[in-house]
Amino acid sequence: MSVARAVKSIVPTHVVTEGGGFKVRRPAAMGSLMSPFLLLDEMGPADYAPGEAIGAPWHPHRGFETVTYMLAGEMEHEDSVGSKGVITPGDVQWMTAGRGIIHSEMPTKKMMDEGGLMHGFQIWVNLPAKDKMMNPRYQDITADQSPTIEKDGVWARVIAGECLGIESSIDTVIPITYVHVKMAPGSTLNKTLGEDLNGMLYVFAGEVSVEGKNVKDGKLALLSNGQRVNIESQSGAEFLILAGPEIGEPIARYGPFVMNTREEILQAIDDYQRGLLA
Ligand code: MN
Repeated sequence: MSVARAVKSIVPTHVVTEGGGFKVRRPAAMGSLMSPFLLLDEMGPADYAPGEAIGAPWHPHRGFETVTYMLAGEMEHEDSVGSKGVITPGDVQWMTAGRGIIHSEMPTKKMMDEGGLMHGFQIWVNLPAKDKMMNPRYQDITADQSPTIEKDGVWARVIAGECLGIESSIDTVIPITYVHVKMAPGSTLNKTLGEDLNGMLYVFAGEVSVEGKNVKDGKLALLSNGQRVNIESQSGAEFLILAGPEIGEPIARYGPFVMNTREEILQAIDDYQRGLLA
């Protein structure tokens, strides 16, 4: 008999300014509450006029992964190990910073010149101590390589993990589920979600109901333990399903560095200042 997960708590979001000055909507919960996720930023939606688009110029990371998923607009990415590319709607860039990388995440010249709608997500996935200093790596999954499925009013893009019988080919350091779901009014999604994973839903349009509890646009629902989650939507909804294992280690965090101890943070700052992260 499998146990259905319920909503354990609902975390509200607030709007903050990041990077060069772009607005993000972010759950008002940090690190350990959302474990193994350290951050969940909804970038926009923002409709930029020509010359208005902004991004995050050169900055370092160490000790975790940044995952960028675009819904609208275009971002250009460049880093200290020589990778360069454009992330367009439906594309995912899974960057494992590991021991260190310096990168820039900016709107493309076209977005800068012409303006336009920008909407997407950046999620930070923590790494266990043994992997924090791994070699940096990228996985770029373009929209056409990313598995999607539509069934009984439910559309899903499987960025990591599994949903409705389809599976992502992405290689994650720890087992992550990351699914973008759109539900038509009156539809239902019953999804298995391994009981060793912390599970959560981030709703960014409409409203869903989980075991009788409603979760509205702009809310992060942390789920109780169980083997599956049953999601209904009367009005229609769009949301992310996120899940991953509890890492269960101390989190020392300073800006773009997330390590286990204060000493490791000081080391990261020192290494960055000495030019050892590039
Ligand atoms: Mn970054």
